Amino acid sequence: DARIEGFDPELAQAIADEARRQEDHVELIASENYASPRVMEAQGSVLTNKYAEGYPGKRYYGGCEYVDVAETLAIERLKQLFGGGSTDGMYANVQPHSGSQANQAVYLALLEPGDTILGMSLAHGGHLTHGAKVNVSGKLFNAVQYGVNDQGLIDYDEVEKLAVEHQPKMVVAGFSAYSQKIDWARFRAIADKVGAYLFVDMAHVAGLVAAGVYPNPLPHAHVVTSTTHKTLRGPRGGIIVAQDPSEELVKKLQSIVFPGIQGGPLMHVIAAKAVAFKEALEPAFTEYQQQVVKNAQAMAKTIIERGYKIVSGGTENHLMLIDMIGKGVTGKAAEAALGKAHITVNKNAVPNDPQKPFVTSGLRIGTPAVTTRGYREADCVELAHWICDVLDAPDDGDVIAAVRGKVTAQCRKFPVYG
Ligand code: PLP
Repeated sequence: DARIEGFDPELAQAIADEARRQEDHVELIASENYASPRVMEAQGSVLTNKYAEGYPGKRYYGGCEYVDVAETLAIERLKQLFGGGSTDGMYANVQPHSGSQANQAVYLALLEPGDTILGMSLAHGGHLTHGAKVNVSGKLFNAVQYGVNDQGLIDYDEVEKLAVEHQPKMVVAGFSAYSQKIDWARFRAIADKVGAYLFVDMAHVAGLVAAGVYPNPLPHAHVVTSTTHKTLRGPRGGIIVAQDPSEELVKKLQSIVFPGIQGGPLMHVIAAKAVAFKEALEPAFTEYQQQVVKNAQAMAKTIIERGYKIVSGGTENHLMLIDMIGKGVTGKAAEAALGKAHITVNKNAVPNDPQKPFVTSGLRIGTPAVTTRGYREADCVELAHWICDVLDAPDDGDVIAAVRGKVTAQCRKFPVYG
């Protein structure tokens, strides 16, 4: 049997179950989204069969003429997306297999083991790859970490103080859980003051940046990375971009991705990136990103009205952190209770969190996925009320069952793939 279903019913069932879960549950994990059928078509194409070590026009394998077209389209569209209307002087590499590998490439291209980096701590909204001890970025380099103040905001004076004190070779800006705009120019000024590179990881906000609804870090950073599957709504993967990099920097970045840390590029994924970038260049994508922010703001407002604290007081992007310190429910328990109501979120540490990282006192909520389904502000307000109903009574099976019923009906109104 040529299809999975006849050949491997167990796996086919898992895929079908996951498809149903995605339709029936409301997805509020801030780093997730639904790739378009076109993106999935490219990922499931014959391009998966092709070895293409090297770069377009300069490969180590024959037969690359068509995958060269796909990769060149991806590169050119990526430059257009983040070049602010111009591709002059733009650099783009679409080969990193993931966001983590894009970040690894940047570190290994520009630093030596033992060099000091200054990044945002995981506990305060940074990513593992920004210098966490358990990650290679924290093992290979001397990672100094900054965080947020009691208001939940990045304290730039504190970042500057740490930079002056520790003289990092690289300052890392970007986040996985921070709901405000970042002053990229200020970060660049801090990096310049100590002669460091400014590396921005815009993974979470790349889609918002592409649509012009969040400040673009490219004019300020020496180098920028992103994932392609979060707000950017493409296939799982990574990218590296830079505006007006030096020739030397370009050489280092190109050679560290291949042959430095990767072998053959995933040409089917690169083709899917090309499709996603074309989608992101359409006017509808700008409307989508504007709606993502409006939806997040509507949810934050409702959650605050219901008596819960949002870290930093609100959101200027696609996500928010609910701070439940003193509310009698941990992040872990809230995640589980909401899961039973078919609302998928992730527990998240909040500033000054008294709980362990696996328990936490917070929840991270994001609107990219529900907005792709078609949710607007009124739907998000309803949803925020249901979340608060569960948080108010996380052990009440009747409340959870009632919310699950309403969530199911809402999901049916907004099919993901039809
Ligand atoms: N950078 C940031 C800011 C992220 O939030 C993430 C993923 O959550 C990554 C990098 C890593 O991306 P990947 O999971 O593709 O390795």
